[in-house]
Amino acid sequence: MSFGRTRAIAYGAMALFFVLESPVQAQASARSQRERFDTLGSRETLVHVLGRAGISARDAREALSTKLLEPGRIRVGMPVTTRSQLTDSAPTEIMLGLAIDRILHLKRSGAGWTGEVVNLPWTTDTITVSGSVRTHLYAAVNEAARAQLDASVRDRLTDALASLYEFRVDMSRDLRVGDSFTVMAERQHGPQGAVRVGKIVTATMKLSGQTIDAIQFKSSKVSGEWFDGEGRPLRSGFLRAPLELRRITSGFGMRRHPVLGTMRRHEGTDYGASAGAPIRAIGDGVVIKAGWGNGYGNMVDIRHPNGFVSRYAHLQGFARGVTSGARISVGKTIGYVGATGLATAPHLHFEVLVRGAPRDPRIALRNTSSDPIPTAERKAFEVARNEARQLLVSTVRVATADTSAKRSAQ
Ligand SMILES: [Zn+2]
Repeated sequence: MSFGRTRAIAYGAMALFFVLESPVQAQASARSQRERFDTLGSRETLVHVLGRAGISARDAREALSTKLLEPGRIRVGMPVTTRSQLTDSAPTEIMLGLAIDRILHLKRSGAGWTGEVVNLPWTTDTITVSGSVRTHLYAAVNEAARAQLDASVRDRLTDALASLYEFRVDMSRDLRVGDSFTVMAERQHGPQGAVRVGKIVTATMKLSGQTIDAIQFKSSKVSGEWFDGEGRPLRSGFLRAPLELRRITSGFGMRRHPVLGTMRRHEGTDYGASAGAPIRAIGDGVVIKAGWGNGYGNMVDIRHPNGFVSRYAHLQGFARGVTSGARISVGKTIGYVGATGLATAPHLHFEVLVRGAPRDPRIALRNTSSDPIPTAERKAFEVARNEARQLLVSTVRVATADTSAKRSAQ
């Protein structure tokens, strides 16, 4: 974040802060009061900043000794506003911007300094984003959400969508041109125009002609928060990729062995990623190897139920506690991407073996066995599903109408 932007946010937050006081009081005191805006520089302390505002070091230390000021919240660019009751007197109020939506208000009275944390409100609405894939999911969402989200947060929606489907779809490899998605998510508006992406409300994806809905439902028999249109949990035993989508830099698609330089049958999947990117276990299991594997470099093998083994190779290093015999739960970081063994560039080589034989993860990890919602809850589930589908259809229509209205107005 640039320094200029930090300042702009700081001023806005302060402006909002003043709105919280009664307008009458603010007007009456504005004539005699003096306010000073400042920010914490990179080579100074808050005591220095307050010194510039005319607060003695001793006074500043006392004011800042409050437990409400966590040291972790003090950062370069932190907005600092001071207020004096008279234009020629020392400040009796200090406002520190703890976060974009939180201010620590310190006040001096006869008894010394007192503090209070003021939360600035966020409001929430929902957006529906619908698009189709031409290259990859980030590009597709980026294009589709242009009207609803700033560029800086569009990728967060992609991340949320990818993790919603992470037990069903490897978004880096399973998408085809023409695959489409519709997602409804919360959008939160904070002080000074800040926008962030909240929770996903519902979604649907069409992948190679197959539709996978994401419906929220609470079942008393089947665990999980999300279900597909057939009432099966979206979550299954295995994550479909050993790296989060945001860590994967490319499809890689390497078939020519980079070191041996020959075309050879490739028994795994290669994920392009930066060195040091965390690798996650695709399922619950037990580590059966964590060590050197010649061409594989540093490698980890995890045994899962039903004769499945997942293999992760060329690691830069292992996560703490990942040793032979260790129990690992799904999603846990087991190591970090590297280029050890026969690898010229950092990437993760990933394999799935079933009863000792390498298998295509796309087929081996396909979700087949999770129990669907039982008959007793079927009606309630169908109501929830139909409502969710209707919600997506109607909001997409509104959004489309909106866009065309804007176009015709231009
Ligand atoms: Zn490989």
